[in-house]
Order: sequence, then structure tokens, then C-alpha cells
Amino acid sequence: MSYVDEVYRRTVEDNPGEFEFHQAVREILESLKLVIDSDEKKYRDVSLLERLIEPERIISFRVPWVDDRGHLQINKGYRIQYNSAIGPYKGGLRFHSSVNLNLLKFVGFEQTFKNALTGLPIGGAKGGSNFDRKGKSDREIMAFCQSFMSELFKYIGDDLDILGGDIGAGAREIGYLFGQYKRLAGLHCGAMTGKGPSFGGSPIRTQATGYGLVYMLENLLRRHGKGLDGKVVVISGAGSVAVHTIEKIQQYGAKVVTLSDSDGYIYDKDGIRLDVVKQIKEVRRGRIKEYLDEVPSAIYEEKKSIWDIPCHIALPCATQNEINLNAAKTLVRNGCIALAEGANMPCDQEATEFFQQSGVLFMPGKAANGGGVAVSTLEMRQNSMRTSWTFDEVDGQLHKIMSEIYDKTSDTAERYGVKGNFVAGANIAAFEKIAEAMMAQGFV
Ligand code: GLU
Repeated sequence: MSYVDEVYRRTVEDNPGEFEFHQAVREILESLKLVIDSDEKKYRDVSLLERLIEPERIISFRVPWVDDRGHLQINKGYRIQYNSAIGPYKGGLRFHSSVNLNLLKFVGFEQTFKNALTGLPIGGAKGGSNFDRKGKSDREIMAFCQSFMSELFKYIGDDLDILGGDIGAGAREIGYLFGQYKRLAGLHCGAMTGKGPSFGGSPIRTQATGYGLVYMLENLLRRHGKGLDGKVVVISGAGSVAVHTIEKIQQYGAKVVTLSDSDGYIYDKDGIRLDVVKQIKEVRRGRIKEYLDEVPSAIYEEKKSIWDIPCHIALPCATQNEINLNAAKTLVRNGCIALAEGANMPCDQEATEFFQQSGVLFMPGKAANGGGVAVSTLEMRQNSMRTSWTFDEVDGQLHKIMSEIYDKTSDTAERYGVKGNFVAGANIAAFEKIAEAMMAQGFV
């Protein structure tokens, strides 16, 4: 059995029932066969894959807090410090009822590769809690965040592990977490990104993942002789990534016709109205169904699949495994020519392979949604330098980083004889950098 297959088999055995984690490992290992199979001994002798897959450290703790009725609540809290070969641990916090160790290991493993691909000096991490902010008051969210940080503050720092946002952890949560960190550590430093602009946050951090996704997509289409103007786009999700993707892609002349939350989706054939969406999501913190109150000609569906709607471009920006083989077939049948992943692993492996075989331009999340963590790293840089850059300066750097990620991904695929396979290109380019750093640092 090859080294890669052997490591995958052992990963499944040693991490029973952790299906998303197995899936993320399998996808990356499949790509790495192109590098490793021809030079197995070099990697096997230093157990490189085993060390890459096993997180350096997992911190697991309880989060007690008191709700508005005076009842005691307990949530689970985690931080996975996955890999620090190329820089301090960096990655977001996810606060959602689905969070468990399996899920965080999958996103943490992916984050390690995504971060390496940005070209910036950051290792990989992920953390979070099974806490769900839906239906909670501001005071309850603050109580939870303060309790979460009361434990985690011991393990983070601007040269050690830098927290950021993710699903369920936006500007409000980051603010409360940072306040408590500052109080306990006695430091006003860059141990967290996604901070408010008045206390060290970077311009464009809120928009970065969405804008970066569109910059990547524009690169992808342009290099294939196509453009965004006049294209019909289906986007899932209604969080920060989806909203800022809509904002930027509309500037390029594309028409977005959908958005969704966990209850259902909105279809507006005339093009989604961003002002209405921002009012619902950013001001009222409501559900997307409320879009109908302002735009009665739109359609709201709870039962049907959003991927049944015909489009030229699909941008899954909600969550993992939202597109399976069936959805992929429908998208291709309806004329979809390009897909870029705004969420982490929104397409399962069968769907991904089907898109690639069908000639759809497919850009995986590790390359397509790296803009968020890239601008987080620019925030760290501004904090260390005790400075702040303008919106345009950071936007310009984001644009350049996304273009460089595209080049790296595309060139690497070509170098390994799989031109246009951006999944392999992204995985291998990231691996080359991490592997080199790990080899140089000895058996640790
Ligand atoms: N959650 C984002 C990601 O998945 C950003 C993480 C961060 O800013 O640390 O890349």
C-alpha cells in the first residue's frame, strides 16, 4: 500500500466517526499523491503526513454562563492549534450548535493549507463552541463570550495564536471577546483580528472574504477569456461572506438572484437588492424571509434546493457539504460555467469531481475564500507596526494577494501535469511550503 493510502487508512481508524475530518484529509491526500508517490521515502522517513494530520495541540474546556432567566448554562469550548510550521497559529472561532471536535479538525486542517497558500507567515488553527447566538440577547452573548475567553486567554497571544471570526462570531462577538482578553491579559495587543476600526481593526476586514472571492472569480474568468458582466449568479448564505460577495460582484455587472439562510432561500429574478439585505442582516439581525416585506415580487422557498435555479455562476457561501452530486448535476445541466467556494468545503468530493469532469471552472475554498484570513494578517501587521492603513491601501493588497493565490494555484497544477485542476494546484502549493518548513525544523 502506498504511503498516502496507508496514512489515510490510519487516519480513519484513529479518528472514528469523524466523517468531515476524513473527507477533508482524503481530498488533500488525493492531490498530494502527485507529489509524494514518486518520492515516498523522503516523506515516510520523517512521518511527514502523520505529523501534518495530527494537530499540534487541542484545548478543550467548559464554558459556564448565566442566561437572562438566571439559569446556568454550559457550553463546550475548543481551540485546535493545528500547525505552526510557517507562523503563529491563526484561524477563526465558530459559534454554532453543530460545532464539535470533528468539525473543527476538518476546518482546522483546511485552514492550515489555506493560510499557507496566502503566502503570509501564518500557521493554522480553528476553535469555537456549540453555542448558538440565534435567539440570545446581547447580554447573554456577552456573558458567553466573557466566559469563553476567561479560559482561552491563557493559550493565545500575538506571537502565539491569533483568533479571528467565523460562522456565528462577527464584529459584536469579537468585540466582547477582545474586551475580556484585554482585561485578563492586561494587554492591548493583536491577539485577535476582526476587531472594530476604533480599537485596532483593519479597514475592509468585514468585506474581505466576499471581496476576495469576487477578485478570485474575476481572475479565473478573465484568464479563461470570460467576464462577470451580465452573468446570473446564485449565492447561498446570508452572512458577511454572502453579503459582501453580492456587494462586490454587482460592481462588476453580474446579477445575483438568490440568498439563503438555514430556513430557506429568496429568489429575486430582478436581482437581489443589497440595501434591503443589509437592513435585514446588519441592522435588524433578522431572517431573510423578511426580504418579501420590501420586495413582494420575490419568491421565498423553504423546501426546494437553491441549486435548482439556473445560473452561469454558483457561489456557495453558507456551510460545508451544501452541494452534493445531484445538485452538481442540476447546476451543470442548467448552464453553470464556474463555481468558487466562499464557504469551507461546501461541495462534497463527488460534486467537485463532477464539476471538474464537466469542464466547469472550479475554484476550491482554500484558494477562493483566503481573502478573509489574508486581511486578518494585514490587521496583525498594522497592529505590530502601531499604524493603520486606508481602505484603498488594504483593498489593493487584498486584490494583489488573491491574484497571487490564483497564479500559485494555476502554475502548480500545470507543473504537476494537471492544468486547470485548481483543487490539486491549491493543495500542492500549500503543501510544498508547509512541508519545506516542517522538514527544516526537524522531528517536532
Ligand atoms: N474564518 C475565516 C476563514 O475561514 C477567517 C479566519 C481569521 O480571520 O482568522 O478563513
